[in-house]
Amino acid sequence: MADYLISGGTGYVPEDGMSAQQLFSIGDGLTYNRSDMQSVRDGLTAEELCSKADGMTYNDFLILPGFIDFTSDEVDLTSALTRKITLKTPLISSPMDTVTESSMAIAMALMGGIGIIHHNCTPEFQANEVRKVKRFEQGFITDPVVMSPQHTVGDVFEAKVRHGFSGIPVTETGKMGSKLVGIVTSRDIDFLSEKDHSKPLEQAMTPRKDLVIAPAGVTLKEANDILQRSKKGKLPIVNDNDELVAIIARTDLKKNRDYPLASKDSRKQLLCGAAIGTRDDDKYRLDLLTQAGVDVVVLDSSQGNSVYQINMINYIKQKHPELQVVGGNVVTAAQAKNLIDAGVDALRVGMGCGSICITQEVMACGRPQGTAVYKVAEYARRFGVPVIADGGIQTVGHVVKALSLGASTVMMGSLLAATTEAPGEYFFSDGVRLKKYRGMGSLDAMEKSTSSQKRYFSEGDKVKVAQGVSGSIQDKGSIHKFVPYLIAGIQHGCQDIGAKSLSMLRSMMYSGELKFEKRTISAQVEGGVHGLHSYEKRLY
Ligand code: GDP
Ligand code: GDP
Ligand code: 5GP
Repeated sequence: MADYLISGGTGYVPEDGMSAQQLFSIGDGLTYNRSDMQSVRDGLTAEELCSKADGMTYNDFLILPGFIDFTSDEVDLTSALTRKITLKTPLISSPMDTVTESSMAIAMALMGGIGIIHHNCTPEFQANEVRKVKRFEQGFITDPVVMSPQHTVGDVFEAKVRHGFSGIPVTETGKMGSKLVGIVTSRDIDFLSEKDHSKPLEQAMTPRKDLVIAPAGVTLKEANDILQRSKKGKLPIVNDNDELVAIIARTDLKKNRDYPLASKDSRKQLLCGAAIGTRDDDKYRLDLLTQAGVDVVVLDSSQGNSVYQINMINYIKQKHPELQVVGGNVVTAAQAKNLIDAGVDALRVGMGCGSICITQEVMACGRPQGTAVYKVAEYARRFGVPVIADGGIQTVGHVVKALSLGASTVMMGSLLAATTEAPGEYFFSDGVRLKKYRGMGSLDAMEKSTSSQKRYFSEGDKVKVAQGVSGSIQDKGSIHKFVPYLIAGIQHGCQDIGAKSLSMLRSMMYSGELKFEKRTISAQVEGGVHGLHSYEKRLY
């Protein structure tokens, strides 16, 4: 079965293009609508494009434009992440320790995508990141900076410099979940002089008895009403034992945005994914993640077609039948077959195409990403298993190309790295503001913990062979600006193609209506900016 699938297409010479004579004889008197145009042979179908021996990737081809009879914002990007989970935005942040922790996962889910929390950390840390995403409530700050009555006024000034805010709740222990005893805000300390800096907060704060608070369980709307009536800047939320569970800031009332696309579960909590390995101790990690409410686990292997992964899929499907499991990575239908047979709910496709990856160079294995996505998606769709195109996405056009080759969603590392929401601090090099971005198979990442060693090395390996590099990327600002740009870009791409939705894009592709064309090297040069002495490229 597998052999038959991967050997398809040999010796097939597709009919391509047409003579000028053909063009003009058809073109005469033609009305420009899709059904008429179907009779014109131009370009290649996806099958034709990908059936040649040459492996192909995103820059090697273009999609021929179709007919537009709708606006770009009408394009529906709803797409399946797994058999049971559907996203309104087909974008996923990669489980890498310089890309996805809770803050990235929250932002991705708010905008209709999803984040997969990396596992280059302890199981406890990872589960806690998942919990932060599941507990996130728009407008509520659930992990604010908190101090104890013994902290000093100086500490508040210091916090103001470090974090930019000075509204700090005070609890008995100085931690969340402890009894609220007061709040200190800029108004309490603004006029204090240097000599007052050693004063303990219990002497400067507004004590509990004078505070306006709201009970846990309050809706954002009710909380906002209380804040407006009280005319205060902060509203602490406490539970029945008077323990602090969250705060709300007045300044956020104005900023509160609606996120109509947000990816949520049936309890209206944001969706969150997490990566795990396939070792025995990953079963403990899995337990903590399911307790934290994870919606989907990604089995993180660079070559997923293994007995370890199949055993893990069987284990998860038995122990947590409701949990969605993404298998991978795979790049051939034969690899996909084994994981589909074992019961995966989605497949992650890509081997060696990541921007930080040196797998193809070192291991001699892999596949150009365009061909990999097409071949796996074309096989997996017969079983209703969606495909995630993972890695190698450098531009929004690459996202459109991945989707047009059959991927249901796209996973990104470098494109989302160095955003405000990515883990890590910014630093400057030669005057440029950067954040670190590294492969999980880089020596740098593997020295941090053992979990990425497990993805990229066998247990008994004595010599480490790196499969990734470590580098940096220029500051990209917030995901809240970047993802809307990606969404709008994908919609524009679909509009040019003439597909009003991603499901239509896929059916146009499989029916052969969607046409592609290979690009020569000079065509690729032509497609980029050229011939200018200098220029500025602003993307959004
Ligand atoms: P403050 O009066 O100096 O505390 O500052 P504002 O209330 O004007 O602004 C604080 C901003 O920081 C709001 O947008 C908050 O959502 C945000 N913020 C993020 N984390 C925290 C936190 O831990 N404590 C506080 N007070 N604000 C936070
Ligand atoms: P990188 O391309 O992964 O190194 O990330 P960058 O921060 O340079 O670029 C962000 C996105 O914009 C990527 O999708 C780039 O491919 C695309 N891009 C292409 N040309 C430029 C450019 O001249 N400037 C920037 N900032 N981005 C570009
Ligand atoms: P990017 O979006 O940066 O092109 O690729 C990100 C993807 O590269 C990740 O989702 C993951 O599949 C893959 N990846 C991450 N780290 C490494 C690594 O060190 N080596 C290899 N071979 N692939 C990696």
